[in-house]
Amino acid sequence: MKQEDLSSLESVRFRYRAIRHPRMKLILKVQDQILTSLREFLRNEGFTEILAPIIGPATDPGIRGAKQVSIQYYDAPFKIMSSMILYKQMIISSVEKIFALSPNIRLEPPESTKTARHLAEFRQIDLEMIYASYDDAMNTAEELLISVVRDVRGNCSEELKGLGRELNELRGPFKRLTHKEAVELLRSKGYTMSYVEEIPWDAEVALSTWHETPFFVYDYPLTSRGFYDREDPNRPGILRDFDMLYPEGFGEAISGGEREHTYEGVLKRMKLTGVDPDEYSWYLQMLKEGVPHSVGFGIGVERLTRWICGLKTIWEAVPFPKVPGIASP
Ligand code: AMP
Ligand code: MG
Repeated sequence: MKQEDLSSLESVRFRYRAIRHPRMKLILKVQDQILTSLREFLRNEGFTEILAPIIGPATDPGIRGAKQVSIQYYDAPFKIMSSMILYKQMIISSVEKIFALSPNIRLEPPESTKTARHLAEFRQIDLEMIYASYDDAMNTAEELLISVVRDVRGNCSEELKGLGRELNELRGPFKRLTHKEAVELLRSKGYTMSYVEEIPWDAEVALSTWHETPFFVYDYPLTSRGFYDREDPNRPGILRDFDMLYPEGFGEAISGGEREHTYEGVLKRMKLTGVDPDEYSWYLQMLKEGVPHSVGFGIGVERLTRWICGLKTIWEAVPFPKVPGIASP
């Protein structure tokens, strides 16, 4: 199998052939360093690693048109985690700063294959902390990425050379654009998008292409995100949340934010986003009994690997890729 074929869908269907390509080994070595660095950084920052859930009565509904997967768990319908967000809000009552390597399943629409950055099975390093704001979370995200890049440059220079990737050292602070500023910029360049929606996939790539270093977009509009992102009490309609985007056209890296953690607040938001509260009974009961205010984010491991290694597609950044619409090992 030739190098260019690793970004083909054939390489996904016949993974047992593609996996033998020398390039695959370089990528997996870098990925090992990325995972080590992420964990080292977070432990040094006082985070405790916990085990992520894989199934449960409910999961994250805010997954932009992807489908959740249901399974029969004895007599109860269960979901496979699309993200562990609801559980992060549970565990911070025990440990104040946590992270987990969380496997997620989202049946993204088959056409998302064209973005080269969507998988149906992926992993996040998902973290959460109490007594902190979304500014703190953005600072943590920034330092985390700087630290991973430093380690990879230091310990994997041969692998990066083999992959033909020039990875520059990062320096903070990263640029921070409000969602409104990002939309204004996009509109000024001819993208027709509104101020109250998520940034569409093609616009996300464009924004990312116009940047040479990672950057943040923050303060998303209320209607663009799930019920758990906290609305700013002093600025109705604006969420205290953020994304980090990679440069060079690689697109979204991280989503995060402060949590709406009051029972009444979440119920109101569920109504607004058309989510059935009955499906979230344990979660709502937990909120009624009280959880601390918290903030967190998730960074996709395959997307991080793709950007660090400079790969054409996300399915080169995972040993056993599940690409939307494609049945493969
Ligand atoms: P989200 O909660 O949807 O913002 O997801 C959190 C992070 O997980 C994103 O910022 C991405 O890095 C990653 N991610 C989300 N969906 C996918 C997907 N379908 N394939 C790969 N990575 C994903
Ligand atoms: Mg996101």
